[in-house]
Amino acid sequence: MKFELIAATNNEHKLIEIRAILEPHNIKVLSLKDVGIDIDVVEDGSTYKENALKKAVEVAKLTKLPVMSDDSGIEIEALDNKPGIYSARYASSVGGYPNAFKIIEEKCKETNNYNALFNCDIALANLEEAPLIFEGRVKGTIAKNISGTNGFGFDPIFISDEVGRTNASLSFEEKNVYSARSKALNKLIDYLKNKNLCK
Ligand code: IMP
Repeated sequence: MKFELIAATNNEHKLIEIRAILEPHNIKVLSLKDVGIDIDVVEDGSTYKENALKKAVEVAKLTKLPVMSDDSGIEIEALDNKPGIYSARYASSVGGYPNAFKIIEEKCKETNNYNALFNCDIALANLEEAPLIFEGRVKGTIAKNISGTNGFGFDPIFISDEVGRTNASLSFEEKNVYSARSKALNKLIDYLKNKNLCK
């Protein structure tokens, strides 16, 4: 039998990546829609961990199944390590991703600092007594030239040190090896494997 868990996200891109990473390990990922839960949790924490825990715990109150959630974002040194947990809100506050990319590019050029960090915290509730957290951190740089059309969000401008190409230039399969989400989810997989809940 497959280990079933609910992915507490309304972000389709995240859901597709989460499914692709978890499902080969005998884990069935159910969306909020699949289980008839209509909820939009307010992300008012001050860290990825707080936001991820809040999303997982709120949904966990509505079901008996284990629930995972994802809170992620990019930190750019030239922007004083912002936007971080405000990544989605930052892009919309400046009129969308193309504008955000221009501002970021100018700031990096001005300071001659292209360092960046991608973060993803995964929370898991309703399995153990207390919720668990798994962290994924990927160091990299902001691209001098935007490139690639795959992925979503900040993928066209983030180059992880490990790969040397923007996340948006990676294939779906490659991104799911090198992304911060993949690093965090693989820690979750290891945890579940140790408990013989997946393979
Ligand atoms: P969250 O729903 O608060 O975690 O918002 C995350 C935001 O961070 C997204 O809306 C994107 O702007 C950005 N983000 C998260 N994951 C990724 C990714 O894998 N690639 C690119 N951008 C991402």
